[in-house]
Amino acid sequence: MTTELSQMSHDELSALLDEQHSLHAELKAQGLALDITRGKPSPRQLDLSRELLSMRVPRHAADGQDVRNYGGAKGLPEIREIFAELLGVDVDHLLAADNSSLSIMHDLLTFAMLHRLPGAQAPWFGQNIKFIAPVPGYDRHFAICEHLGIEMIPVEMGEHGPDMDEVERLAADPSVKGMWVVPMYANPNGVIYDEETARRLVSMKAAPDFRIWWDNAYALHHLTDAEPAPLPILQMAQEAGNPDRIFMLASTSKITHAGDGVAFLASSTGNLDWYLKHASVRSIGPDKVNQLRHAHYLKDAGGVRELMRRHRALLAPKFQIVDSVLKRRLDGTGIARWTHPAGGYFVTLDVLDGTASRVVALAKEAGIALTPAGSSHPLHDDPHDRTIRLAPSFPTEGELQAAMDGVATCVLLAAAEKLLG
Ligand code: PMP
Repeated sequence: MTTELSQMSHDELSALLDEQHSLHAELKAQGLALDITRGKPSPRQLDLSRELLSMRVPRHAADGQDVRNYGGAKGLPEIREIFAELLGVDVDHLLAADNSSLSIMHDLLTFAMLHRLPGAQAPWFGQNIKFIAPVPGYDRHFAICEHLGIEMIPVEMGEHGPDMDEVERLAADPSVKGMWVVPMYANPNGVIYDEETARRLVSMKAAPDFRIWWDNAYALHHLTDAEPAPLPILQMAQEAGNPDRIFMLASTSKITHAGDGVAFLASSTGNLDWYLKHASVRSIGPDKVNQLRHAHYLKDAGGVRELMRRHRALLAPKFQIVDSVLKRRLDGTGIARWTHPAGGYFVTLDVLDGTASRVVALAKEAGIALTPAGSSHPLHDDPHDRTIRLAPSFPTEGELQAAMDGVATCVLLAAAEKLLG
């Protein structure tokens, strides 16, 4: 399509509406059941690490501890060494835990609500604290704040991170205590935070108990030959004189098995001691059998990089499908823009203002499940009703092709309806 919808006459738009209506009716008749809601690894991706299920692991780790027993709160050195190298942190500043980094993020926030963080005058509970939430962002980050009653202040994302003038202005308010950051291949728009943004984040004036949840969930999840190293953010924070500012998180959820991996927390010694003090009340130690299994399976940093290239071989063609269908159906229409991420798990599709919820509803009628409109904004409130997150990893290529074609129909249909008033 080459004519922008906004340039079409009433008759042309009506004809377009009729055409998309009949395509939509055909879709509905097909009884599709397609799901591009969540960034889940596909069965083929999970099978890359099938060996994990049958591996025999020794009873003892390299340092002699019996992995079957309690204890070892910091995690096994052998798995921490591999990920310290990959994440660009000192091994002494990295903990290995159980399978979910999201649960560590939740713990950190809950602990900070109930127990005084280093630098804090009091626990956060009962204070009117706020978090900076770059948008579009990750719905589960926002859900943690919502669940704990923490106000979020949205800040628009740019090409290399959020609007930093605005972030600096907000962080200067002592009631602003935290910020969500996905620094590489951000969920959902694929943005990579540049060094300048990172320097400003670690240097800006903020409360002594202000923390950044630096969620490196996609640090190793490249989709192109460029494999940029994660920013050495802990070192940068140290150099800026704010060593406690960063909680870095990561996990093997999208490296080995999403439900059966190892999660990591990297931070300053002061923060880690504080975390372990509270985490030790909650658990007598992580699953070290799984940590040892992962260390033996992955072998070293090179082993992880190699595995990630095999994921890329399965994922990159799916991102190409998303792009080529959207291009074929929506290029030149002036009603849609989408991202071309160099890594991560998502494509952000921005549709005509005021139509995202309608697109999601139309897709649902046609048997295509999309992440609910508004999910990428705090409290599900996308003021422009514009942003839709697409997650191409789980369906097969054939299913994805069909789903994306259906999405494009819904985008055109919703736009024609809107423009015709
Ligand atoms: N952070 C981000 C940005 C994510 O996209 C995801 C998974 N969708 C997670 C964290 C979840 O990580 P985990 O499986 O380690 O809990």
